[in-house]
Amino acid sequence: MSAVLVFHPDYRLAVAGSRHFPSDRAARLLAELRRRGLAAPERLRCPQPAPAAWLALAHDPSYVRAVLDGGLDGVSIRRLGLRPDRTLLRRALAAVGGTVLAGRLALADGLACNLAGGGHHASAAAPAGFCLFNDLAVAVRVLRAQGLVSRVLIVDLDVHQGDGTAAILAGDPGVYTLSLHCRTNYPLRKTRSSLDVELEPGTGDRFYLAVLERLLPPLLARLRPELVFYDAGVDVHGADPFGRLALSDRGLLARDAFVLASCRRAGAAVATVTGGGYGPSGAVAARHALLFEAARQLDG
Ligand SMILES: [Zn+2]
Repeated sequence: MSAVLVFHPDYRLAVAGSRHFPSDRAARLLAELRRRGLAAPERLRCPQPAPAAWLALAHDPSYVRAVLDGGLDGVSIRRLGLRPDRTLLRRALAAVGGTVLAGRLALADGLACNLAGGGHHASAAAPAGFCLFNDLAVAVRVLRAQGLVSRVLIVDLDVHQGDGTAAILAGDPGVYTLSLHCRTNYPLRKTRSSLDVELEPGTGDRFYLAVLERLLPPLLARLRPELVFYDAGVDVHGADPFGRLALSDRGLLARDAFVLASCRRAGAAVATVTGGGYGPSGAVAARHALLFEAARQLDG
């Protein structure tokens, strides 16, 4: 069984305001997956953009209204690092809808992958670091409100801490947030996840994988989540211009394979989001594609 892929045409929209934001990432990833025979048309699903009522399950209603009405203040726009125009909004709403759909499909099918998402810096009332809405937190709340899930684990392996996710979901029973990130990467002031593991710059494959292997299986056994949201950011890669953890292609593939296999062994469905990844878009798409290679290997 290969992964179900979630993709919306609005993922292709070009975003203004920062030369670092990888606008074409989802489109490049989809092309890369097609080239590798990993994106059969019958496995593709298109999400509905998130309605305001979904956003308000994880964000302050006043913040949702400000974003939808184009009324973000200057401080928020600086924190976001992108121009909050209609194009960015359409793209963000599609991405949130995509993560909700990936969660639903994962619960039905075992594994589903959103080709966007991972807005883990957005908090309840503020954007940050290219993230307008926190699709992970919204998806948890929507699926639970729909009665589809009660125990959720968020495994955030993006090189940056999932600070917004942690802040929104802090104290939320039934949701556990794990963030494995580089200590010296953004955000400099970290929040507290259910469990944070801070790694030093230059960590590399061996130590990184050893930490993950020691950490994840016992956590899955203890929490018994029905659903895992996996932020599979590839900015942990050694060639990423921002991330500092120095993983190789082989390390990334091993990481993704281990997460998927561990969740399957524990009986948890997995919904993935792309998370961060920077640099030349072809190389970044190839790094994101490793997750889908890992999914294919899992099915033998
Ligand atoms: Zn990141």
